[in-house]
Amino acid sequence: MKARVFSGIQPTGNLHIGNYLGALRNWVKIQYDYESIFCIVDLHAVTVYQTPAELQAKIRETAGLFLAAGIDPKHSAMIVQSAVPAHAELAWMLTCVTPIGWLYRMTQFKAKSEAQETVGDGLLQYPVLMAADILLYQAGIVPVGDDQSQHLELARDIAQRFNSLYGDTFVMPATKLPSVGARVMGLDEPDKKMSKSAPGSGHAIALLDDPAVIRKKIMRATTDSNPAVDFETMGAGVANLLSIFQAFSEWTDDQMKAHFSGLRYGDLKKQVAEMVASSLEPLQQRYREITADPAYLDGILREGAERVTPIANSTVELVKSRMGLYTRA
Ligand code: ATP
Ligand code: MG
Repeated sequence: MKARVFSGIQPTGNLHIGNYLGALRNWVKIQYDYESIFCIVDLHAVTVYQTPAELQAKIRETAGLFLAAGIDPKHSAMIVQSAVPAHAELAWMLTCVTPIGWLYRMTQFKAKSEAQETVGDGLLQYPVLMAADILLYQAGIVPVGDDQSQHLELARDIAQRFNSLYGDTFVMPATKLPSVGARVMGLDEPDKKMSKSAPGSGHAIALLDDPAVIRKKIMRATTDSNPAVDFETMGAGVANLLSIFQAFSEWTDDQMKAHFSGLRYGDLKKQVAEMVASSLEPLQQRYREITADPAYLDGILREGAERVTPIANSTVELVKSRMGLYTRA
């Protein structure tokens, strides 16, 4: 039997090149090597307030982008998290074995709660729900960006704790990071990772941005006080632009050095902008075709949920019986 892959993206805003390079593109690359499940994690999205109508639209947009990027729904199940109630059910059971101190240590909780006036409990519980998403399917491999490494470590800790309390139940999930593009930084603030939910129109390049918008954002990206590329002394902004170029072009380090050393920042930015715009063009074209037929998308999501529900329910039944909860005889 093939190992199972699980990963998800929140429908919290415009998917950006960080989501693509850190996650989505790798899902596409590895999907046929495994039994793959890709999820639009809407229950995660509501850990911070989302305008309801916008959230509904973003769920469909995210599904369209999964397909446009190359997820093959005949092979890989594409699901919306809230369409499979077992995610929330298992999350409760795992909440009960998770020490609260583990959750307060999470970098994402600290960063996201700082930006909130009132911090919802969901923001603290976020990594437990994420552990449930993965463990529910006994997934062995979880392809994510680097910012999720800490949450995955926690998912393993939770699995281990459950297994040691109640007996061997969960497969240990391994983290799979891309070699380049695992952490794309904000164009305006290269010391912060690019995020859908970060403010500022020059922060992220959305997958559906027009070429002109892509150019404008990259031309305005923060660099440093040098005039031209120096691989020894470059700051975070220039390093970020180069790594975006490298991730899309798949050039080697040597090719990058030979081509970009000494290039003035204005020219560097033009070349990065062209690389990004031309790489995204086919995806944008496919997105327009796919979303012309909303019923097609809904059918895929419905079929995905039907396909994975028996796996999810059987894990929940197993966990219930391990914990001594009520199960149908
Ligand atoms: P939000 O700001 O709402 O948290 P996000 O941009 O962080 O949005 P998520 O939906 O939280 O996106 O993450 C989806 C996937 O994209 C995860 O695998 C995550 O590791 C990856 N990812 C997110 N941001 C980046 C980034 N800047 N570089 C590389 N990968 C990223
Ligand atoms: Mg995030």
